[in-house]
Amino acid sequence: MAFTLIHGLISFLIVSRFTKNEKLRLIAFIAGMLPDLDGIALFWDINLYYEFHHELFHAPVYGIIFGAIFALILNKYFKLDKIKVFLVFSFSFIFHSITDLFTTFWPVKMFWPFSSEQFVFPFLQEFNLWIALIVFALTGMQFCLEQPITKDQ
Ligand SMILES: [Zn+2]
Repeated sequence: MAFTLIHGLISFLIVSRFTKNEKLRLIAFIAGMLPDLDGIALFWDINLYYEFHHELFHAPVYGIIFGAIFALILNKYFKLDKIKVFLVFSFSFIFHSITDLFTTFWPVKMFWPFSSEQFVFPFLQEFNLWIALIVFALTGMQFCLEQPITKDQ
C-alpha cells in the first residue's frame, strides 16, 4: 500500500474488533507499519530504497520471528501476556505483507526462506486513495464510538 500509516491503522482497526486493551492495539498499530522499515532508505538514497524495499522485512516469517522476540521482551519488562502480544504483533506484521500483495505492483516473497518466489496481485492498487480515506473514516468512527458520552448540563 502506498501509505505506511494506513497499514498501521488497518491492523489497529482489526485488532480493536477483538480487544479494547490499549497496549495491544498500540502494538497492532506499530507492528502493522514495521515491514516498511525496509523502505526507510527512501529518505536518503533512492537506489538503496529500490534495492531493499520489500526485500528485507516483508517476508511473513519476520512477523513470526519479531513477534516472538517482542512478546518475550514485553512480557519480561511490561508483564504483557506473551501469547496475546505474539498473536497481535505477528498478525499485524504479516497482514501488512498480505495487503501489499493486492495494493502495490511490488512483489513480496511470501514464503521466504523456503521459496524465493515472488507474489503480487495488484488488483486493488488503483483504489489506494479510496482505501486510505475509508480507513481514516473508520478510525475516526472507532475513536468517536469509544468516547464516553458525557452531558454538558
Ligand atoms: Zn509495505
